[in-house]
Amino acid sequence: MLGTMMDFPLTLQHVFDRGTRLFPDREIVTGGLGERHRYTYKDFARRVHRLASAFKALGLQPGERVGTFGWNHYRHLEMYFAVPMQGAVLHTLNIRLFHDQLVYIINHAADRFIVVDRSLLGIVQALQPMLETVEKIIVVDDGGDCEVGDALDYEQFLASGNEHFDFPRLDENTAAMMCYTSGTTGNPKGVAYSHRALTLHSFGACLSDSVGVSQRDTVLAVVPMFHANAWGLPYAATMVGAKQVFAGNSMAPDRVLQLMQDERVTLGAGVPTIWIGALPLLQAGKYDLSSVTRIACGGSAAPRGLIDAYDKLGLNIVHAWGMTELTPIGSVAVPLTELDSADPATQMDFKARQGTPVPGVEARALDSDGKEVPWDGQTMGELVVRGPWVAASYYNDDRSAGSFTSDGWFRTGDIVVMHPNGYIEIADRTKDVIKSGGEWISSVALENALMAHPKVQEAAVIGVPDEKWSERPLACVVPRPDFKGSVKAEELSEFLAQQFAKWWLPERYLFLDELPKTSVGKFDKKTMRVQYTDSTKAVTA
Ligand code: ADP
Repeated sequence: MLGTMMDFPLTLQHVFDRGTRLFPDREIVTGGLGERHRYTYKDFARRVHRLASAFKALGLQPGERVGTFGWNHYRHLEMYFAVPMQGAVLHTLNIRLFHDQLVYIINHAADRFIVVDRSLLGIVQALQPMLETVEKIIVVDDGGDCEVGDALDYEQFLASGNEHFDFPRLDENTAAMMCYTSGTTGNPKGVAYSHRALTLHSFGACLSDSVGVSQRDTVLAVVPMFHANAWGLPYAATMVGAKQVFAGNSMAPDRVLQLMQDERVTLGAGVPTIWIGALPLLQAGKYDLSSVTRIACGGSAAPRGLIDAYDKLGLNIVHAWGMTELTPIGSVAVPLTELDSADPATQMDFKARQGTPVPGVEARALDSDGKEVPWDGQTMGELVVRGPWVAASYYNDDRSAGSFTSDGWFRTGDIVVMHPNGYIEIADRTKDVIKSGGEWISSVALENALMAHPKVQEAAVIGVPDEKWSERPLACVVPRPDFKGSVKAEELSEFLAQQFAKWWLPERYLFLDELPKTSVGKFDKKTMRVQYTDSTKAVTA
């Protein structure tokens, strides 16, 4: 073999060393109810060494799992590095899962220690009798008042460690993190991320044809650190030495916007519901977000109306698509040169799509025979992907088989059309797409159109059983406060009729005060199907 390059492992050590050595004075800020906590990368680095050494002294072995049960804050960031860099695996637990699901995933992952925020300690204590492998709880005092009992205090524990701890050299394929999908069906499935995947994903997040995280940024991930590694942003931001801002124990719009204003955030990131909630405050001119250069939005479809409304405020929403199984970034709606000369409406159409695959991710759409569908902007197919940060299997789970094609692509379960310029447009999830008379209706397209109506705040469209057509769409609509009780199904139907074929139009509308959301803020269509399918409150358009 020809001599080529060094065998340099792609591990979080590099991500950490680069950020902390080159940018020791950059800040990491955590918001909260009381005073904001701030320290530098230098302080952060010292504490990560101490924390790692304390875990070693506690007996943590390579490959063992340590759970975290917490909000977004600097101590969670310390855990993001201290555990994986010593060869163990950080398991971020979703604080909003049902209790039986939490018990399942903690036992399934066999977590040995759990680091938990004091404000959430009560939940973990209630589960403790059912936990089979957890030996010790370590409590982060975030001002919560739950009795700590015989748990260790995070600060004392960290202080017992050695600041000069040496991290071992790791194989890049070592597992670093793990995370479970929120489990819309059945028990959650685990995904274990290797150091290599997390490192390459950080490079991916820093490309300008992606989210473009840079040392010039101040990053606020409004996506929980317990969900898909906060989109990998804490790692990407650390690698380039960006200033990082965490929201602490709440993601309420006023807290988020206050932090963005005060800390001069340049890059915000979160699911659409966060930005939908923040919109009225921004429209009322309450905050100065002039520092913001872009807001990454994904996790579920960012409605065109939302992107448009932000655009009018001078705020650039960059739509991104991802999945827990993809570490999670898969595609980003970057402005292609070819679109520069397009009219504003066409440009907005593309901003509302899910974008081009990020370098590192290969994407195809397949028909039901497994053949690639044409890139014609019309033919629907299932999106399959592969790449160095795509999971090769679920962690210890025999449900893996159905999720991969025989030639090694991951089946996303998302139904898409591919546009001639390589843009992906998500039409639906396989389980949400409405099957009417042998054809497919995109629930996402309908709800996005509804959310562009001036009287509509939120909308979700679900398929309900129908004798003749097998399924028909039911529109669940939350009117804007001023139009509660006055918005009519007919006017919404007429509005949709301007954009869709007649057979796509929902016959029935259900007006609600709010829509059920999943643990990570997405419309919970599974619950909606159970609760609303037979609702007698639905009105006919
Ligand atoms: P969960 O199954 O718990 O929602 P994930 O957070 O991994 O788990 O969700 C991934 C799914 O979210 C994708 O398969 C896709 O259906 C949806 N999704 C993510 N980003 C977008 C987006 N920008 N537009 C539409 N759907 C999206």
